[in-house]
Amino acid sequence: MTLPIRPELAGLEPYGAPQLDVTARLNVNENPYAPPDAVVDAIAAAVRKAAEGLNRYPDRDFLLLRGDLAAYLAAESHVDFLEPRNIWAANGSNEVMLHLHQAFGGPGRKVLSFAPTYSMYPEYARDTLTDFVTLPRRADFTLDIDAATAAIRDVAPVMVIVASPNNPTGTALPLVHVEALLAAAADVPGGCLVVIDEAYAEFRRRGVPSAASLIPAHPHLAVSRTMSKAFALAGGRLGYLAAHEEVIDALRVVRLPYHLSAVTQATARAALAHHRDLQAQVDEIRAERDDTVAWLRDQGYTVADTDANFALFGPFEDRERVFQGLLARGVLIRVTGPEGWLRVSIGTPQEMALFRSALLEVTA
Ligand SMILES: *Cc1c(COP(=O)(O)O)cnc(C)c1O
Repeated sequence: MTLPIRPELAGLEPYGAPQLDVTARLNVNENPYAPPDAVVDAIAAAVRKAAEGLNRYPDRDFLLLRGDLAAYLAAESHVDFLEPRNIWAANGSNEVMLHLHQAFGGPGRKVLSFAPTYSMYPEYARDTLTDFVTLPRRADFTLDIDAATAAIRDVAPVMVIVASPNNPTGTALPLVHVEALLAAAADVPGGCLVVIDEAYAEFRRRGVPSAASLIPAHPHLAVSRTMSKAFALAGGRLGYLAAHEEVIDALRVVRLPYHLSAVTQATARAALAHHRDLQAQVDEIRAERDDTVAWLRDQGYTVADTDANFALFGPFEDRERVFQGLLARGVLIRVTGPEGWLRVSIGTPQEMALFRSALLEVTA
């Protein structure tokens, strides 16, 4: 039998990091701390309440959840101008990104990003028949902002996507550079949306403003966030985005009806009500990150400056051998980034101690 699969998809493997039950799972940038019992109880009670109405479709516009997300951004990033109509959400920020591509991408349209970056970006483009164009980052993984703004003028993309902090490098994009991208995008004929993917924003240095602070003056800016990382809710699948209402309205057109289940909405709202408890260890993770980076540098490795909960380090002549050696010792990290580099997510102090001793053994 011949299946009429799209030729460009034939033979492709689905994206995804290994899910293995080992001692230290340091490969997908999750918060290593499970929700405290009190939060588990609150989520269970909220889901129980939602279950009483599961014969009905959920609120398609999830306005209460959007209000809670706006309130969270006001508390976390001091952006107090966001209303529910400025917020979008979906099953992970991956789905939010897909909505952006469905609404703004398409055949003959281009998305511009800066490599190395999140490996899902080309997939959203592929799946929506959008052209994906990348410009390389500098050797230290920062953005060459003059080259970036020139590329926006040359390529005339419908969207520019920058993760800040970037995955897999951890590199933050200074706000003045976001403003430079916005200025260049404003000149693109037909319009260009600047999307800042702040999946790791909660790990940024204190006092650094979120790109969301630029939303009032920039109707072509969208800032995406997730509850999967610092928020310790990767299993809940909730990502969201803040932007002007016109952007949100475009996303509402392409979403599937009732895409956020009543269970998801209840879970996310209960988690948001306990955001301080769920993120209680973020400071500790940040300190552990800085210790890990310093230790790796002491060992002679090059480590990319990181504002996230992971570190990209190298170079390794045979990174696959190091990855396998660590795995054999119960430590799962990630083979990603340019050839010769490896990425480790920041776990608990015990997990990081195991990572360090395993790396010493493997490279002895
Ligand atoms: C992990 C990650 C996300 C979040 O994905 P979810 O679908 O929300 O779990 C988004 N962007 C980047 C760059 C990431 O690394």
